[in-house]
Amino acid sequence: MSALDGYHSVTAAIAAAEADADRPAGAVSLVAVSKTFDGDKIRPVLQAGQRLFGENRVQEAEGKWPALRAEFPDARLHLIGPLQSNKVKAALALFDVIESVDRPKIARAIAKEAEKMGRAPDVFLQINTGEEPQKAGVPPAEADAFVMEARDTLGLRVIGLMCIPPVDEPPAPHFALLAKIAARNGLAGLSMGMSADFETAIRHGATHVRVGSAIFGARPPLRPPTPTA
Ligand SMILES: *Cc1c(COP(=O)(O)O)cnc(C)c1O
Repeated sequence: MSALDGYHSVTAAIAAAEADADRPAGAVSLVAVSKTFDGDKIRPVLQAGQRLFGENRVQEAEGKWPALRAEFPDARLHLIGPLQSNKVKAALALFDVIESVDRPKIARAIAKEAEKMGRAPDVFLQINTGEEPQKAGVPPAEADAFVMEARDTLGLRVIGLMCIPPVDEPPAPHFALLAKIAARNGLAGLSMGMSADFETAIRHGATHVRVGSAIFGARPPLRPPTPTA
């Protein structure tokens, strides 16, 4: 299946899931996750009208998006992978939204750099709903304090919460938990749901779904993380 076919079937499935959940058409934004794919694979999806894309590595995005943006100046980029302090400046220069604000230290670094640059990105705070030791994000018990620090103390433009449920558990309880934490903190945005479970996420109120392989196909096996990633 081509990326274009994948794109059309995902947008149709999103529309159907919105209708099933009695949510208005267009309530859910598709973040097309283009990590690991090059410009030639991404371009047809841009040509079909998709404007919102997700990448998980600053350096990789810096390599391919300036050229794509020259062709499609209204494309918007979300960072969905962990951010290192030494990459904050580059990330703010390239990304419109940082979805992976996963710890107070990086929230503080973003706030500091945003002030210097006079350019504050919209952000999501990442919650580790499954409390997995290897996964980024603050545990649910620390979520309210994290929202307070990021939004109220640091003045970040926090528009919502993001989660990646454990791969080996049904995702619905994690989506429900994220929605509950967002609601009690007055946050409207919910970035949850990937290729395997975006329809479930939409039933639980997702405002953003991050879908990669269902559009672009299988990715090459993960490279080991590098210190500069
Ligand atoms: C890769 C990735 C996705 C997309 O995953 P698919 O299963 O390919 O849809 C979504 N969110 C994050 C944070 C990712 O790293």
